[in-house]
Amino acid sequence: MTDVLEVLEPATERLLQEVPRVGVAEVDAAVARAKAAYPGWRAVAPADRARLLRRVVEAMEGAWEELALLEARNAGKPIASARGEIGMAIETFRYFAGAPERPFGETIPVAGGMAFTVREPLGVVGLITPWNFPLAIACWKMAPALAAGNTVVLKPAELTPLTALRFASLALEAGLPEGVVNVVVGPGRTCGQRLVEHPDVAKIAFTGSTAVGVSIAAGAAATIKRVTLELGGKSANVVFADADVEAAARAAPGAVFDNAGQDCCARSRILVERSAVDEFLSHLEGAVRAIRVGDPLDAATEMGPLISAAQRDSVASFVDGDAEVAIRGSVPDGPGFWFPPTVLWPVPLDHRAVVDEIFGPVAVIVPFDGEADAIRIANDTIYGLSGSVWTRDGAKGLRVARALESGNLSINSNSSVRVTTPFGGFKQSGYGRELGPHATDAYTEVKTIFYNTEGN
Ligand code: NAP
Ligand code: MG
Repeated sequence: MTDVLEVLEPATERLLQEVPRVGVAEVDAAVARAKAAYPGWRAVAPADRARLLRRVVEAMEGAWEELALLEARNAGKPIASARGEIGMAIETFRYFAGAPERPFGETIPVAGGMAFTVREPLGVVGLITPWNFPLAIACWKMAPALAAGNTVVLKPAELTPLTALRFASLALEAGLPEGVVNVVVGPGRTCGQRLVEHPDVAKIAFTGSTAVGVSIAAGAAATIKRVTLELGGKSANVVFADADVEAAARAAPGAVFDNAGQDCCARSRILVERSAVDEFLSHLEGAVRAIRVGDPLDAATEMGPLISAAQRDSVASFVDGDAEVAIRGSVPDGPGFWFPPTVLWPVPLDHRAVVDEIFGPVAVIVPFDGEADAIRIANDTIYGLSGSVWTRDGAKGLRVARALESGNLSINSNSSVRVTTPFGGFKQSGYGRELGPHATDAYTEVKTIFYNTEGN
């Protein structure tokens, strides 16, 4: 069954593009194409595979502005951010283009011969991705998967399928063989689910909500599929009184309101040492009010709308009157799924806004008393994706970063993701790591080979 998906522009609520929406039969056909292409792709000599991936880099560079505009309009993100994200997607392919030529295995001394390991590709890999960083997250998965010799079937989120579709055509133009990259646009509960169940899919790499991650892990168990999961977060931004409190406060909005808060790394719990709360809030207020919310295509815009009416309503439900609104930014009049940058304080510690992932521009302030208290509160969550520690005491910064149960920490900075460093979660933020020097490991199987040199 093929019908039509209406892809919207969240800043205007208008139709952006119609694309064919597929069902389970087309997922099966895409898996069959990927399976047919796999032996040829895996047999491509390492240097040739690297060369083809570098051609993908060039094709993406040629389409950079086009991809950025598509992403900005479809995901409602500021054009400046969209350009940066497409740049990161390109960097990801550039980084992993070298992977086919890097050594993988080990030799191990054994009696009677030689034992060594090789890394084999898995086969067909299913990629299921969200709408918040559509092409960047897809490339974090595609680049290492393809570099390691797998073929892929990508199911982007229905809300934002346009850059993935354009990528598929660019990859073909760049010379990747037919069937190596396949994109299926359809609902998660049917098409995504089919990828999870399909016997010819060897692995699922997923980014999205923890609830869907649970269903994917459970579904994948039936065929012992390999699974990596990048899920939600409720990260802490821990500001000690001995920090440069003004710098921490001025940086805090970027750490939670970038991408309108629709970021799994959002530092949405701002933990401030009690004696510094007033100073922190005084600087934070100016920084939040200065955020330019508006037309994603205006180069000066810093924050766009939320992705959908449903997401806006879900975010709004967290601001329920049981917590005080200490700071609220402004939004444009007229159509668009807008929500103002909002800081809640004071707020009860058991309030949903403190406990649950909001995935929108809402932050809470939580005071603490000393190092042990900061660590206890920061770790009091089911999640563990990122976090920051602000202090002028370097040893304390490192101690706290080591103590936080989280995959990505930064000290006196809010940076989370870099192409060259591993990224992923502790606890219910998922398992597996993307990016960085070992990311291809998650798209390979280790094989041990023993060669008998002594005869029988
Ligand atoms: P989601 O439901 O987890 O969607 C992520 C991807 O999974 C989409 O491609 C979706 O397809 C697909 N999917 C949905 N149900 C599936 C199923 N049963 N089997 C296989 N695939 C399935 O996330 P969302 O609904 O877009 O957002 C909901 C919440 O998830 C957010 O509010 C946020 O808390 C969290 N989230 C986290 C991240 C992150 O980066 N960690 C990203 C996005 C969302 P369709 O949407 O096309 O149906
Ligand atoms: Mg969903």
